[in-house]
Amino acid sequence: MKIFITKKIPQKGIDLLKSAGHDLTIHDSSTPLSETELIKASQQADYVLNGGMQKFDANFFQNCPNLKALSLMSVGYDNVDISAATQHGIPVSNTPGILSGATADVAFLLMLSVSRKAFFNHKRILQGEWKGFDPTANLGIELNNKTLGIYGLGRIGFEFARKAKAAYNMEIIYYNRSRNEEAEQILGARYVNFDDLLTQSDVLSIHAALTAETKNRFDKNTFTRMKNSAILVNTARGGLVNELDLTEALQTGQLWGAGLDVTDPEPMDPKNPLLTMENVCVLPHIGSATVETRDNMALMAASNLLAAIKGEKMPQIINKEVYP
Ligand code: NAP
Repeated sequence: MKIFITKKIPQKGIDLLKSAGHDLTIHDSSTPLSETELIKASQQADYVLNGGMQKFDANFFQNCPNLKALSLMSVGYDNVDISAATQHGIPVSNTPGILSGATADVAFLLMLSVSRKAFFNHKRILQGEWKGFDPTANLGIELNNKTLGIYGLGRIGFEFARKAKAAYNMEIIYYNRSRNEEAEQILGARYVNFDDLLTQSDVLSIHAALTAETKNRFDKNTFTRMKNSAILVNTARGGLVNELDLTEALQTGQLWGAGLDVTDPEPMDPKNPLLTMENVCVLPHIGSATVETRDNMALMAASNLLAAIKGEKMPQIINKEVYP
């Protein structure tokens, strides 16, 4: 079978597909494909594995009638028009679970780095501004016994809450559309409404998927309801946060700090004022970027495709309704 891979993935995934005898075409470039290039390359394939952040909209599915399945090497699927895929009978799979620990580590890293102004202080050394020890300068805030609010307590949110509770005995509160009883039992997490999440969190960490409902969920209105001493962490998707409102909230002291692994747009403009703020730490979307996790994601994405090629149900199917 002909498989098109939209960006080079770890070798383990490529080897798995090759060992099954398939014919692979890989877009091995740091430049993403244009919409036209993506369609053209996918028209010549039976299956597509997405290793990048390409968008698969209704026009894509309309123009790729030969396509039999799409495998994503990511857990998020906000870049895919799932209902259009389903309408065209295309199963779409993702890679849930295996990246939760790595992504939760980045949320933890950001929370701690913001609380101690780590990135900013590092930049000061590079700029020759480290003049010596100062008992009143560079003061951060501690995390012990503080309240961690999770917006979207699913797989990654759970892992992050578990680490934060173990390290700092943080009290966990959360807001989802439905209760997470496992987290309530294991972590003593307390379910609260959205407003209580905003007003009670010392650290508020975003872990819900980007959807029409969650887009720009964190804006001026939400920031005014949060504590002035609060830290916002986002490792989900940049689109959940209105970045201009966030910038203003940080500039006016409405919020204490922010840690972002995801931005809107990506990549972030290097001139973005957030990059020079004292209490802000920004990373370039590296949540799942460890050797172990990326190998496992590549293997899972390849296994999903191999199942589809054999005529089996893709194990991590997103649009189950595509199957009779
Ligand atoms: P998950 O297990 O599905 O968890 C998402 C949680 O969000 C669920 O508990 C869900 O609960 C809640 N949720 C969904 N819609 C909501 C809404 N409108 N309001 C409040 N809560 C809502 O997903 P995951 O595996 O933890 O991944 C979460 C997201 O992280 C992904 O979608 C992806 O965008 C992002 N991610 C980023 C990186 C990175 O590199 N930075 C890596 C991996 C994943 P209910 O359904 O009960 O509401």
